[in-house]
Amino acid sequence: MRPLQFPAAPPARMLLRPCLTGSAMPSLLGHAAAGLALNAAFTNGHAPRRTWVVATLCALAPDVDWFTAFLHLPYGHALTHRGVTHSLAAAALIAIAAMLLGLRTHLRSPRIWLCMFAAAFSHGLLDACTLGGVGVAAFWPLSHARYVCVWQPIGVSPIPLSAGLFTRFLAALWTEAVWIGLPALLLVTATRAARLRAASRWGGTSLELP
Ligand SMILES: [Zn+2]
Repeated sequence: MRPLQFPAAPPARMLLRPCLTGSAMPSLLGHAAAGLALNAAFTNGHAPRRTWVVATLCALAPDVDWFTAFLHLPYGHALTHRGVTHSLAAAALIAIAAMLLGLRTHLRSPRIWLCMFAAAFSHGLLDACTLGGVGVAAFWPLSHARYVCVWQPIGVSPIPLSAGLFTRFLAALWTEAVWIGLPALLLVTATRAARLRAASRWGGTSLELP
């Protein structure tokens, strides 16, 4: 990733408006698909069904910062969209909250801990891969710099959706299908194949979570 250089600070209202009417993220579908795929990969099918729900919520959680668009904070402020809540530190906190609130019976499973953290941080990574919107404060609080990926193949999804933006939404959805949906499907298929192979090697005994 490379740091995103901010232009000289323009009036906050002008810059916050795109957060309200424009676009700055993959759709919720893209983030949810990433959470579901990571859950499938990490838990390998040996986990309660609620881990699917919790992992998906972890993948969506960083966008709770949308309300800050109404606060008229300066451009690039840590609390604005794609700031604090999209950092590695926030991913760790989201994972802790998810485990304590939704998966308390699995607190001893490092695999599920890692799954929740990966699901939460996948959000920031995918946002950094979108062509548009502000960068991600991935290393907050160590650095306030916003980062975007060198390669940004994912189209941004118009939020909120209106009739005029529907074509753009469909185009963004297509890029998500290719660059998020397809890799997610490959990840699920590969981990499932590995699991079946390991099970056959052990005489049909499936592998259990730690
Ligand atoms: Zn986001």
